[in-house]
This record gives sequence, C-alpha cells and structure tokens, in this order.
Amino acid sequence: MENITFRSWLQTLEKEGTLKRIKTPVSKDFEIAALGKQADAQKTTLVFENVKGFDMPVAVALASSREQFAKAMGVQREELNRRYTLAQNNPRECVIVDRKDAPVMENINEDVDLSRFPIPIHHAKDGGDYVTAGILISKNKSTGEKNVSIHRLQVLGKNKLGILILPRHLDNFYREAEARGEGLELAIAIGVDPLTLLASQAIVPLGYDELTIASALHQNPLGVVRCKTVDIEVPAAAEIVLEGKLVPHVRELEGPFGEYPRYYGPKSPRQVIELSCVCHRNNPIYHTIVPATMEHFLLGGIAREAGLIELIRNIVPTVVAVNLTEGGSGRYHLVISIDKKNEGEGKNAIFAALGSSAEIKHVVCVDSDIDIFNMTEVEWAIATRVQASKDVFIVPDAMGNKLDPSCRNGISDKMGIDATVPIGTISADSEKPNTFERISIPNEGTYRLEDYN
Ligand code: MN
Repeated sequence: MENITFRSWLQTLEKEGTLKRIKTPVSKDFEIAALGKQADAQKTTLVFENVKGFDMPVAVALASSREQFAKAMGVQREELNRRYTLAQNNPRECVIVDRKDAPVMENINEDVDLSRFPIPIHHAKDGGDYVTAGILISKNKSTGEKNVSIHRLQVLGKNKLGILILPRHLDNFYREAEARGEGLELAIAIGVDPLTLLASQAIVPLGYDELTIASALHQNPLGVVRCKTVDIEVPAAAEIVLEGKLVPHVRELEGPFGEYPRYYGPKSPRQVIELSCVCHRNNPIYHTIVPATMEHFLLGGIAREAGLIELIRNIVPTVVAVNLTEGGSGRYHLVISIDKKNEGEGKNAIFAALGSSAEIKHVVCVDSDIDIFNMTEVEWAIATRVQASKDVFIVPDAMGNKLDPSCRNGISDKMGIDATVPIGTISADSEKPNTFERISIPNEGTYRLEDYN
C-alpha cells in the first residue's frame, strides 16, 4: 500500500463524502476561518477552490476527530494511543528521494514572494497573515540533531516571517547558532499528511528527529528530499516548502495572534526568518489550521495523550484511557479513567499527570464505567461520586502555561478531583443494588422505538 500524503488523504475523504469543495468565491481573511471553524465542528473537510485574488485552493479541517486520526493511521479509535506510542518507541529512518522524483520539487523558485500564497488572517485582532500549518524542520549544524515543530508564522514581508519560539528544541538550536553569530537553516513544509503533522507534536527529548516517528506511523518509510538552498530534508510529497534561515540577533514585532486557549497571544519583538527559496507541487493546495479548532487541539492532544497514558501506566497499571478535553483547549484539562485495584490509585494517577507538564492544570480521575469522551458522564461522576473535602486537592504556585491568561507570570495553581468510588461499590453482581451501581433497565438495548407504532 502507498503511503498516505496530503493529497491522497483529501481524495480518501472525498470518496467517503466528508470533503466538500467550495466553489463560491471567498476572502482569505476571516471568511475561510469562519467557514473552517464550522466545518471542523461538523467533522467536514473543506477545499476552497476560488479564493479571491489567488489561483491556489485552500484546505481546512484536514482531521477534526480522534476517529479521523485513527483512520489515517489505519487503526480503530481505541488503538490510537497505542499505535502512536508504538511509533514513538520504534522510530524508522526516512528514505531520501531524488529531487526529480519529489513532487514538492516540481517547481523551484528562489525569488520568494509570499503574496502569491493565500495566507489567511484568522481572528479579529491578529497582527496579520499567519502560516499556521507549516511543520518547521531544523538541524543543529554542530551535532547533526534534527527537530520538527509547528510555530505561528506571521508574514512580515515578501520573503520574511516573524515567529514565536517557545523555550523548547528549536529555541535550543537557535541559541547555539546565534551564539556563534550564525543563522539557523530551516525549511517549512505546508500541506503534509495528518500523520506527519501528528508526529511533529511528539513529546520526545531534544535531538529526537520527529520525522522518524512520522516514518514509523506510515505504511512505508517516509520519503524526504534535500532542499535546494539549505541543508535540510523535507517530506517529498508536501504541497509547498519554504526554505530559509532564522536570522541571528534580529528581532521584529510579531503578534497579536489568536491562540489555542481562545485568547490572543501578545505582540512582542521576536525572531525573524528570511526565506531563500520556495518549492511547490504543480497546482499546490495551501493548508491552514484555524486556531482553537478540534484539528488544532487534537494535533497536540493526541501526541500528549499517548505520552500521558504511558507515564500514568508506570504508576497505575490499570489506567484505561485519557482525554485532554475540548473545553480545556486540548491542553489544560485531563480526564483519566482507571480500573481501580487499590484504594488511593485515583489520586496517584492524578499526581503523575499534574507533575508531567506545565500545561495540565485540572485533572479528574474516574472509574472505567465512565465514558471519559462524554463530558456529561464525567460531570455526572463529579456530581455523584465526589465529596470535596476529601476528593479535591489544590496545589498552589506550580509551574503553569503562559498562554493561560489566569496564570501569574508563569505560576499556576493545580487541582485534582478524584471521582473514583471505593472498590467494590459499582458492580452489579449482587441481588441488592450496590452503592454506586448505575440504574439500568433489563435488556434496555433490545427495545427500539422505531419498531413500535
Ligand atoms: Mn523536538
């Protein structure tokens, strides 16, 4: 079987009837974001074929549910975390493809002009046009280590982008290069398949090449091609690749930008990328991720969930599932379900999760009879299985996430809610109802209203 690509994924969705081609002319500013947000909520992918002022279509909402990401991986939803972890634990080298065989190299232009591309403005107070779905591939020249990450990229000129770099791996590479007075070479691939996007979000140590996770997630090793003007390899089937470098000792104003917590990240002086070349397929399709949609939450969420479930399993072996919820913007709220075998395990699972990342702020642990992907079920567990004085605990002044506007200069409180019940109080084995046994109607599922008239 062939590897999934951005284009083959769109074709798959079209065959299944979940992709809609929009022929009505649309503006790249706000209109694509507004419609993309609706499509994302309906788990529909859109391709805007007539973007006013451009001859390039724009795709949005590539995958907006766990089911869709699981489908891209070729597994059932229940297998999603396991498949991702397997790839992360068993990375696979990419294969280098000749430039003549790489679709993204069908057109190479060293006279870069970003105004040719339909790069949208998404939210009311955004500072300008933003590239949101580009995977940024970089290499530390002194060690050969590679990195893949997604950043918000503001168009600052025809060949210039402003970038927000959080204190993670790219920041590390850039600081080293800048200290030597050098720029950091990089390439940005836009229009890559959902698996490569997911792999870019893996929670792995510095120096771990996320493309080798993408390669392991694919059917066959991922084909990459050497860039034209920088010493970087990019996915050969990408729609568009921007080549360039982060300039040393230069900062320009970037922002504000509507971020995943559904607030604006501020405008500040930030690093700048100078582009040296743009490559693209024939008739390229531009991909944008509308911030704070399910597509955005799940890209980071699925990678984090896979890591979290492994981590919690070390503490509570019977952990069943985890959900970084939509209401928590895929980062701040975690629900854990466990098959409790020892009293106190609920709290231990919560400790493991709270300590694992700055982003996770409130954690609820429930028994496995609760469907943690149904927030009404989770609320019911909190409503009927929690006594606040013993089941809720608060840790003041831990490290938090700066994009959370309630955070105090990076300091945040953390809260755990243990909504599990004492062992042996759920089961329906006995004749008399158990304390926490859910009411049920005998053979309820066999009665179907549509059979009655
Ligand atoms: Mn990394």
